[in-house]
Amino acid sequence: MNFHAREAMGARLCNEALDEPIDEIERASMMDAAAQKLTELFDVLRIDHANDHNTRDTPKRVAKMFVEEILAGRYTAPPRITEFENALAYDQLIVTGPIELRSMCAHHLMPIYGSAYVGILPSAEGKIIGLSKYDRIVDYFASRLQIQEELVKQIGQYIEDMTKPRGVAVRISAVHMCKTQRGVRASRRSRMVNTYYWGELAKNAELKREFLDECISLDRAGQE
Ligand SMILES: [Zn+2]
Repeated sequence: MNFHAREAMGARLCNEALDEPIDEIERASMMDAAAQKLTELFDVLRIDHANDHNTRDTPKRVAKMFVEEILAGRYTAPPRITEFENALAYDQLIVTGPIELRSMCAHHLMPIYGSAYVGILPSAEGKIIGLSKYDRIVDYFASRLQIQEELVKQIGQYIEDMTKPRGVAVRISAVHMCKTQRGVRASRRSRMVNTYYWGELAKNAELKREFLDECISLDRAGQE
């Protein structure tokens, strides 16, 4: 299907993936069309991109950046998950992090950056996935226009679906440049923290405490 045919089928929400990943041809035509629109935006903003050595290639560069990096999680397939049987029926809490988080705010198109932590309470009958996959899952959902409240949930629900654990927790601590670079111009140390809990992790206060303690110790270890 070409880009324009898909366009006619209607758009998706900013943090939803398209029904099917796009192929090379569609990717190229999407980038061309986006570069054209960015050129028009520069015209509207009265930036002389035709004669300005700094901005001459910027529309093309930015179009490529949107399609291949910032919004890549909408146009590509989810990361392939290597599953391992939980042979020894390990059922204690696993916490991994900090995972680098880079996203873009859906309201202002400004960067969001920080750390994610994932907690999994495996079930004896469920699957265990390779540790690096959590980083890839975070990056996949972050590579869209996001708001942090929906991002933690998307990550958590995907891990639930893939591994059928007894519980999941996802915590994100991030700087929103729409708040530090503009608007209220908050300190770059100002962050937003939120956590999504599911299953036994949502119900059990002791497990929540254990997860949060591990997040703190991982954060500290990362600074050593
Ligand atoms: Zn924003």
